[in-house]
Amino acid sequence: MSHACTKCRRDNSVYFRAYSGEYLCKKCFVRSIEDKAARTMSRYSMVKYGERVAVGVSGGKDSLSLLYVMKKFFDDHGRSSDDLVAVTIDEGIRGYRDESLEIVRDFCSKLGVQNKVMGYKEIFGISMDEAMVVRPSEKMSSCSMCGTFRRRAIDLAAESAGADVVATAHNMDDQLQTFMINLLAGDVERIGWMHPEPVEYAGGMKKVKPFVEISEHEIVFYALQREIPFQSEECPYMNESIRTDLREFFNGLEKEHPGIKNNAYASMLKVSERMKMTLEPRGDKKCSVCGRDSTGDVCSVCKTVAALSLNRSG
Ligand SMILES: [Zn+2]
Ligand SMILES: [Zn+2]
Repeated sequence: MSHACTKCRRDNSVYFRAYSGEYLCKKCFVRSIEDKAARTMSRYSMVKYGERVAVGVSGGKDSLSLLYVMKKFFDDHGRSSDDLVAVTIDEGIRGYRDESLEIVRDFCSKLGVQNKVMGYKEIFGISMDEAMVVRPSEKMSSCSMCGTFRRRAIDLAAESAGADVVATAHNMDDQLQTFMINLLAGDVERIGWMHPEPVEYAGGMKKVKPFVEISEHEIVFYALQREIPFQSEECPYMNESIRTDLREFFNGLEKEHPGIKNNAYASMLKVSERMKMTLEPRGDKKCSVCGRDSTGDVCSVCKTVAALSLNRSG
């Protein structure tokens, strides 16, 4: 049976939002996602007028949707697309990454947004394919190694594009998983860094997550409604982790108790806000190898590079 849209009462609904009880037509659904992202951005002053924004775009549904939403946000605010750039990191994973690079390139040219690509090989001297062969032990997990490299690579790409803000497509599900991982690992302090209000880093770069209040499920549906092309193939090096278990755990709960993710997210926000007040300011310590901000003498990126090259030459 088809329901009329609860919002406009005109068109037939294509989506049922269980936690609010709303039936939404295509137009009202996509608008609700775009409005939500815009509200999140203004509530936390994520993007100010005149700031140049680099969007981290991998070629997956979340990041391409974010690029689309940002472009629309810029258009709606009469801002030039020149202040928007998509940064894409080429990890050097043959086959997998080649396909997504093409998807991103085509999508960017369709939107009229500049696409800047930087690779692990040119930045760190080693590709993911090579790193997987020479890593000193299986304990050096592909995802944590790649995550360390990716964060640095995105920073460098955004800096070279002259950006003031780096936007990534982390959604509510990602945040809930990270929250639980920190809790379960006893890293309560880290929850303080999870607050959506952007922290300014050295050089004044801000990191923002406009999708934190939107669930993964709704972003997938958004991408489908907007006919955004995306790569669905998963990374060949992805290792099953506790993150996967938590993802299924929350999805199972949400199915039985619609709205529970929103509640959990609201709790995370409160905890994060309190923890944020207790955080020690990041020191002005620099890595002795690369000279960038670091908590120790040598940063995690340089440690990883050293561990890999040791095995390569030996
Ligand atoms: Zn409607
Ligand atoms: Zn370093």
